[in-house]
Amino acid sequence: MPRHNTSVCGACLNDYVVEQVKRAIKDHTMFERDDRILVAVSGGKDSLSLWDILMRLGYDTAGLHIQQGIGDYSEESHRKTVAFAQSRGAELIVHSLKEEEGAGVLELADLTDRSPCSACGVMKRYNFNKIAREREFDVLATGHNLDDEASRLLGNVLRWQEDYLAKQSPALPATHEKFVKKVKPLYRLAEREITAYAVVNKIDYVIEECPMSVGSKMLVNKEVLNRLETDAPGTKQAFYFGFLERQKQTNLSLEDEKIQSCTRCGQPTTATICSYCRILEKVKTAP
Ligand code: AMP
Ligand code: ZN
Repeated sequence: MPRHNTSVCGACLNDYVVEQVKRAIKDHTMFERDDRILVAVSGGKDSLSLWDILMRLGYDTAGLHIQQGIGDYSEESHRKTVAFAQSRGAELIVHSLKEEEGAGVLELADLTDRSPCSACGVMKRYNFNKIAREREFDVLATGHNLDDEASRLLGNVLRWQEDYLAKQSPALPATHEKFVKKVKPLYRLAEREITAYAVVNKIDYVIEECPMSVGSKMLVNKEVLNRLETDAPGTKQAFYFGFLERQKQTNLSLEDEKIQSCTRCGQPTTATICSYCRILEKVKTAP
């Protein structure tokens, strides 16, 4: 662990990882002991490790997997998620875009002239929120780690996307009655620390990245940050944790955002008709 200038064995790594997650939960009052937590699980190392850690800590959790319909990659992701849930006797909710929305991510992207990542993002965010609310979970947890958050921050800063900067928090409160609170309990942990956790604990995860993410800005930002990190360990942490400190002291606030109910589906949105309904309209009118 170059950023801590130390090396650890498997047992100490587990202690370290669990401590960092406990600290994240506490520092951002993410959830309480009796809250019901819905963990968004992709089948990758981050979200499966997160689910594993929350169960280890004794929280009341269920998993939610969205089947995106991106060929073999999605099938493998689904298989690994189901196998993990079965091995722990944990509840898993599976939502298939092909079955529920009538088209997978690639078809949705084609029909709407969006990029696959944009269509996928809309479908995931919408379903994460809606399913969490409908099934009365108190909070939705995702597996975003320090590398994810630092590279997202870099992207937002490079273009000075202040509205996104306001929202880039490890815990987003529900700003509308139909929004669920969203949290990222792994934000203090680097990607390679979580990979080590998954390996040490024999978590069988999908190694392959989503084929649609190849060449994405997010991956390029990650590479750039990794170069900086190699040169000066601790850079990513200083960048993101420093941002969180400053965010607390400034007026970057969510209160100005006007959230209303979508006139079609009633779900919260900043527009009259939400992105999800605009995408689905194209599915319904497709030849
Ligand atoms: P990504 O945007 O792919 O880096 O994923 C970030 C987080 O979103 C993951 O750690 C998961 O918590 C969640 N996630 C991504 N893809 C899925 C999926 N297909 N089903 C459920 N959760 C997902
Ligand atoms: Zn809608």
